[in-house]
Amino acid sequence: MEKEHITICASKYFSAEQIRRIHELGTRHFGENRVQDLIGKKALLSDLDITWHFIGHLQTNKVKDVLEHIDYLHTLDRIKLARTIEKYATRPLKCFIQVNMTKEVQKSGIEPEKLEQFLSEIENYDKIEVIGLMTIGKAEDAEATERAFKGLSEWASRLDLPYLSMGMTEDYEIALKHGATHLRIGRKFLEMLE
Ligand SMILES: *Cc1c(COP(=O)(O)O)cnc(C)c1O
Repeated sequence: MEKEHITICASKYFSAEQIRRIHELGTRHFGENRVQDLIGKKALLSDLDITWHFIGHLQTNKVKDVLEHIDYLHTLDRIKLARTIEKYATRPLKCFIQVNMTKEVQKSGIEPEKLEQFLSEIENYDKIEVIGLMTIGKAEDAEATERAFKGLSEWASRLDLPYLSMGMTEDYEIALKHGATHLRIGRKFLEMLE
């Protein structure tokens, strides 16, 4: 089941200088959760070859600011966001649809049963290139997390989407077992900086 995967450093924990060090050690993909942090750190690191991902909740009023700075959005989770991207983007943006697999009310994400409807609504949006599905496991519940990752993988196959963004420091092994292609790893990078 394990597929070739890339590791994105979830760099919300790290300063630009720490990101520089992680880059020196070989990581080329970084993901931020907040638009201002991404823009600020990116400006300080413009001499490096980095692919920037946005992995946090994206407010529609920030779309215009972030679009030119990212190559991937992991958190497309509502039609209003898709509409705003379609309006302001000057080139297609690679997107993962965020899915709420664990049905936690506080979590963003589309319900899996509504994915087909969502995909058909954005079918003609030429600035949105859906490349896969993204989910977040359930904290401190390995069984629920495994069900979520397995379920996400099944939905992706059913919908013919090639990529799966899932797996963080605590659960990346479970994610790899179920075919993750994009891991988002934060705290584990602390070990590298010691
Ligand atoms: C912070 C964060 C991660 C990484 O979390 P760790 O548990 O530190 O590995 C992954 N995905 C998202 C969306 C995050 O906000």
